[in-house]
Amino acid sequence: MTTLREEDVDRLRRDTPGTDEVVHLNNAGSALPPRQVTDTVLDYLREESVRGGYETAAAHSDRIRGVYDSIAGFLGADAADISVTDSATRSWQAVFYAFRFSPGDRILTGRAEYASNAIAYLQIARRTGAVVEVVEDDESGQLDIADLERRLDDKVKLIAITHVPTQGGLINPAEEVGAIAERAGIPFLLDACQSAGQLDLDVRRLRCDALSATGRKYVRGPRGTGFLYTHPRLRERLQPAMLDLYSATWTAPTEFEIALDGTRFETWERNYGLVLGLGAAVDYAQRTGLQAIEERVTALAARLRADLEQIPGVTVHDQGKRKSGIVTFSVAGIDAADVRERLAAAKINTSITRPTSYQFDQEVRRLPGMVRASVHYYNTEDELRALTEVVDKLA
Ligand SMILES: *Cc1c(COP(=O)(O)O)cnc(C)c1O
Repeated sequence: MTTLREEDVDRLRRDTPGTDEVVHLNNAGSALPPRQVTDTVLDYLREESVRGGYETAAAHSDRIRGVYDSIAGFLGADAADISVTDSATRSWQAVFYAFRFSPGDRILTGRAEYASNAIAYLQIARRTGAVVEVVEDDESGQLDIADLERRLDDKVKLIAITHVPTQGGLINPAEEVGAIAERAGIPFLLDACQSAGQLDLDVRRLRCDALSATGRKYVRGPRGTGFLYTHPRLRERLQPAMLDLYSATWTAPTEFEIALDGTRFETWERNYGLVLGLGAAVDYAQRTGLQAIEERVTALAARLRADLEQIPGVTVHDQGKRKSGIVTFSVAGIDAADVRERLAAAKINTSITRPTSYQFDQEVRRLPGMVRASVHYYNTEDELRALTEVVDKLA
């Protein structure tokens, strides 16, 4: 399927009970799951409650393994390259904290970097004497490829960027970054938390050494799930910061062996109901078609930006050559939190972004507090109109 027609959207909405209750434009926070996801989780939990947790996991071991195949297919990877975790942050940390930095080593990142990642860089820089450098944006607001290339030398030990930031509609040129990183032989860690599920991702095209994502956002999985892709060449050289009896095997009283596949970055305990729910969400996205999803999400978001820009007093803040499903705007003289409240009163879910969550960006952009309306393919033009009508009255 390459384009979603009206009847497809109707069917997808019928699968999504939440669309009868709210206008959900907080998909970058946590999307409404299809009932196939919710049912998968609940059925599994019910079975566990009457059968026993270990016994249920054993009975469903094939399905559980199938989740790794699903995620691998979703990313153009092998199942052995996939780790399932409980969030994007855990996935990202598993890789980042496995690096060993020395004084003077350089970590290159972008202005759009996610707050948790930035905090981790700063902590490790303080601890090790490594240096964090923010690559400049180009005039469109995306990461400046030429500036990245200029900065490369043998002290650069990691390039780590956010693909689609949480605080705006930008899509960073991850494939170009990947090509440069590969040519220079520098590991490339991509935070794909907001792009997974709304853009068609392929790790071979992205040429990343690691990619982290969450279940609950555009993938429409359950909360408390995340996944990680690692290239075998990176896994071979990265020892996880923490090991357990799952990521490693205790082979003799003084010996242990670390798993070679994605298990290396996992731990024993997990909520298998959620893992299966994540698999159901990935399968649902694949059946819907990532290209069709990307096309509809970006078209709806472009439409919303154009409509908001018509309203006097409203400023849309998204930048970049390519834009995602995340729309950010402010209303002159009205606090973003008040705008969100008014929208919530009309049963329209949005969120707000606070400047403290994007300090690197804020250094050069000086943005006001913004309302974030993040659209998904199950949203409709009527729903977008409902939002612009409320904003129009306020402005
Ligand atoms: C939400 C988000 C994260 C963190 O995801 P969690 O699943 O909450 O850990 C990381 N990066 C970006 C860009 C995000 O938007």
